[in-house]
Amino acid sequence: MTGTGSRDNTPKELMADPAETATLTIDFDALAANYRQLRDLAAPAECGAVVKADAYGLGMAQAAPALSKAGCRTFFVATLGEAKSLRSLLPDAVIYVFGGLLPGSAEAFRASHLRPVLNSAEEIQEWADFCSRAGDKLPCAVHIDSGMNRLGLSSTDIDALANSDIWSALTLSLVMSHLACADDPSHAKNAEQRAIFETLRAKLPDAPTSLANSAGILLGPDFAYDLVRPGIALYGGHPQRRGANPFASVVTLKGRILQVRDAEAGETVGYGATRTLQRPTRVAVVSVGYADGIFRALSSRDGEDGLVVHLGPHAAPILGRVSMDLIAVDVTDIPPDLSARGEWVELIGPKTSAHDFAVHAGTIDYEVLTNLGRRASRHYIGG
Ligand SMILES: *Cc1c(COP(=O)(O)O)cnc(C)c1O
Repeated sequence: MTGTGSRDNTPKELMADPAETATLTIDFDALAANYRQLRDLAAPAECGAVVKADAYGLGMAQAAPALSKAGCRTFFVATLGEAKSLRSLLPDAVIYVFGGLLPGSAEAFRASHLRPVLNSAEEIQEWADFCSRAGDKLPCAVHIDSGMNRLGLSSTDIDALANSDIWSALTLSLVMSHLACADDPSHAKNAEQRAIFETLRAKLPDAPTSLANSAGILLGPDFAYDLVRPGIALYGGHPQRRGANPFASVVTLKGRILQVRDAEAGETVGYGATRTLQRPTRVAVVSVGYADGIFRALSSRDGEDGLVVHLGPHAAPILGRVSMDLIAVDVTDIPPDLSARGEWVELIGPKTSAHDFAVHAGTIDYEVLTNLGRRASRHYIGG
């Protein structure tokens, strides 16, 4: 870990590196603060952490130890491969794998002390058989489908298993389900899924329960059960579609001005000549593009504004199409010392949140974070 822990996400010594063209700064103080906020919201439930997809693109190797240091003991990933990497980072953590078992994968779970989230009667049978052969009642979670129709046992599956002796072969350490509409607190499906979860889990052996992701935690204490599973809120995303984001910004993405040019009214900017300048314009060409996660949908064309980025405190819009390695920004109204060749431009950060960025691109915070790419140099600060 480098840096000073400064609240300005761009330590001076880092910005001074003459070779860097883009930086992705990840603030572990903000990550830890978000973890503590979620833990306090969910208490007395335990607060786990979802670190799938390389901790939503931020780097599991760095984020998972930081969350562990903040007090997190239970982690969730999507795949066995992710779980094995996580095990080498955190020898003592409880690790659940949402994707569950594939035929023949049980031994790999046992070898690394991983817990599968069993999503079907078939998987439960495989785990029970494996445990019997191993002579060990190994822990696992069972996922109930409460109305999302993605992974998990149906009510028919549960009725068939309810009084089976299969449960004596294994240790049921968690019964969980997943909410489909928690990002909308007024959605009727939240209470419906909760009621179905209550009914179905009562038919299974007694075990700790879990229902809430980040947005589910914000639905209140009725949704917290014994263990909550936040992901996006830890990383500074906005779990809900409305209102202010209660969580701290973790990620700052900056690009660098490679060239500044003066163009006349009537000229066009970028591929496809989609944007015609309405006034004499100073155009800054900045060293980031869609390969760095600046979605092409953030382009501007005639009659439609692009994303607004920041140079110091000043806002400036993208001009024309986003290309792979470059964007053009209108810096006509920006003080020259902040918009000269070599100066830095904030694309995502405290001023342009990942959420605003996502809304502008017609997507969600999750897709923004998991698409940040590997080209920007990464700086982990705080923690
Ligand atoms: C990804 C995931 C989570 C975390 O969701 P967030 O919305 O990022 O908080 C929780 N539970 C399950 C089953 C998931 O797949």
